[in-house]
Amino acid sequence: MGYAFERLPQLIDKREGLKEDGEYSKRIKSITTRVWHHSLTKKKLGGSDAAGFARYHVSLGWPGIGYTFVIEPKNIVDTPNGKRARIVYCHDIDKRTYHSGNSNQFALGICVAGDYRYDKLDDATKATIDELQEALVKDGIGSKDKSHNQMPGYSWKACCVYNYKEAFKFLDAKKPDAIPDQYKIQEGDTFWGIANNLAGISVNDLIVANPNVDPKRLKIGQVINLGKAQNSYTKPDEPKKPQSSYKYPLPGGVWKHYKKGGKRGSFEDVEDIQRALNAIYFKVGKVDGWYGNKTEDAVTRFQKVYLPYDVDGIYGPQTRRKIKAVLKSKGY
Ligand SMILES: [Zn+2]
Repeated sequence: MGYAFERLPQLIDKREGLKEDGEYSKRIKSITTRVWHHSLTKKKLGGSDAAGFARYHVSLGWPGIGYTFVIEPKNIVDTPNGKRARIVYCHDIDKRTYHSGNSNQFALGICVAGDYRYDKLDDATKATIDELQEALVKDGIGSKDKSHNQMPGYSWKACCVYNYKEAFKFLDAKKPDAIPDQYKIQEGDTFWGIANNLAGISVNDLIVANPNVDPKRLKIGQVINLGKAQNSYTKPDEPKKPQSSYKYPLPGGVWKHYKKGGKRGSFEDVEDIQRALNAIYFKVGKVDGWYGNKTEDAVTRFQKVYLPYDVDGIYGPQTRRKIKAVLKSKGY
């Protein structure tokens, strides 16, 4: 059924319910132009909304509110897509309302409540402008957008003074560029360099999503998971103490050998474990973030001394508590 714009969750249908005094006539031409207005009433003021404009327009002797749509920045609603300014649907599309003088026959009036000589468009309002415009394009209602003062006879008018064209790009501009699922290694590539150039992917994501790739031996032409790597690495839930409060912060969660069900890759949390073990002379050698043989061996040796009934080479809450106690006893 119906139009795409009718499915926008921030839209409320008030075709019945706003003040009226008669009926607008039907258009005898089809809509070519979506015309963007602002109300010249500051957005926070009482009456700076569809109901207020309807009362005002009726007081001018009009049959009802002069716009087909009013966007209300003071009514922000939560939608599945995020916060949005409410859209009031005021008249059937084919009603020739009053908003652009001689152009009304073929122009659709959309008003964003507010006085944008002083007000600023907030993100929820920009997002609504973007979505409404996109829906109207999809619905084939009009083929171009114009500001009120781009319409014949209105060049003097301070309407609309917000940058409506920029608002149409608002949601797209926020989307990061699509990242391909996979990527072929080129000369000079490193995981660090690749991750550094892409929003939303970390070196750890790449390592976790490419278990069979040795980051130190990338080969030209080798195909790695890239877009698929997004969010592969998720940190353990337990929040870390700020680095400053302990010389050797210890992560929460359970960490074990990457070949025995542990996470594969280099992790800051494992580095923390390794540094702590080195500090109390259960040496793991190089701090590299990989929970492999050396780290497992150091944890095992530590457990044999301090947790003799619980020797498994796995770092968990018990081992964490004990290492912490030993660090403390050594003055850390
Ligand atoms: Zn206007």
